[in-house]
Amino acid sequence: MICIIASCQDVYDMCSYMEDQKDRLTILMITVMFALSIGISILMTRKFKVLRQSVQYVAEGHTDEQIKEIGYTEVREIAGRFNEILGKMQILEDSRQEFVSNVSHELKTPITSIKVLAESLLTQPDADASLYREFMSDIVEEIDRENEIITDLLALVKMDKKVANMNVETVNINELIEGIIKRLKPLAQKREIEIGFEPFRPVVAEIDSVKLSLAITNLIENGIKYNEDHGWVHVYLNADHRFFYVKVEDNGVGIPEEYQDQIFERFYRVDKARSRETGGTGLGLAITRDVALLHKGAIKVHSTPGEGTTFTMRIPLTYTS
Ligand code: ADP
Repeated sequence: MICIIASCQDVYDMCSYMEDQKDRLTILMITVMFALSIGISILMTRKFKVLRQSVQYVAEGHTDEQIKEIGYTEVREIAGRFNEILGKMQILEDSRQEFVSNVSHELKTPITSIKVLAESLLTQPDADASLYREFMSDIVEEIDRENEIITDLLALVKMDKKVANMNVETVNINELIEGIIKRLKPLAQKREIEIGFEPFRPVVAEIDSVKLSLAITNLIENGIKYNEDHGWVHVYLNADHRFFYVKVEDNGVGIPEEYQDQIFERFYRVDKARSRETGGTGLGLAITRDVALLHKGAIKVHSTPGEGTTFTMRIPLTYTS
């Protein structure tokens, strides 16, 4: 039998030393981690601070500025998305400014003519009655033109109100087109232009009849306006199980290919002089396209200069908002 006698004091000392070391190490680790997390968060928020300052600058009204795409992937992605939105806003702002400047120009033109006509009468105190009558009828024409522009502008503004403004009902499209042609016949007869209507089948659809009438009227009216005397305009109506199609074909002056995309833009006219002569405002096709889009439809053009033009409008038979 072996008997060992030893003091436990050393073991106790060692244990308490280890305990102390463990506490110190824990405190040290907590301090280091705390310092590290503060350091990292300072670093991270510095990038967000730059982003916030950039956004603030744009929010103050400097919308033509871009946000700096720097820092971590996420920050760069957020800044990139912001810049995309800013780009779209800038395009909208540019087109708004262009529209306002076009409207001002178009509205000013008749007023300038009226002023010139009235001033030339004022500078001729002994002008005879026939001259007065002639100038007055020119002034009335200019006033009518101003009125037409304002009416078309109001129609466009109504289209901009989108779906809320749609007054949808079930309408017989054959009768709607017959009514429009009846109204436009006197205009065509003045220039001995023949208008024909060929429906392939009876069509009933859910549409806003006021808006769609305006769109189809614009297309047929253009077929008459941009045509030679003794020409023709043919309207076709067809349908499948989802859509109906209104095709307006004329044998008029046609539209050169390079202008065919632009004719749907507000105030765009291929031949300004001819359009003005025929009382055009340059807004008709913009209104027609808006009407097609409001009905979730589409419009396309096919034209050959000197041979004629065909507009095809596709509208769903059932309206979905
Ligand atoms: P406008 O009031 O000048 O007729 P629109 O928006 O209706 O304006 O048409 C835009 C332009 O497209 C017209 O100025 C004209 O040059 C051209 N255009 C439209 N329809 C026809 C057509 N059927 N034949 C030839 N040109 C056309």
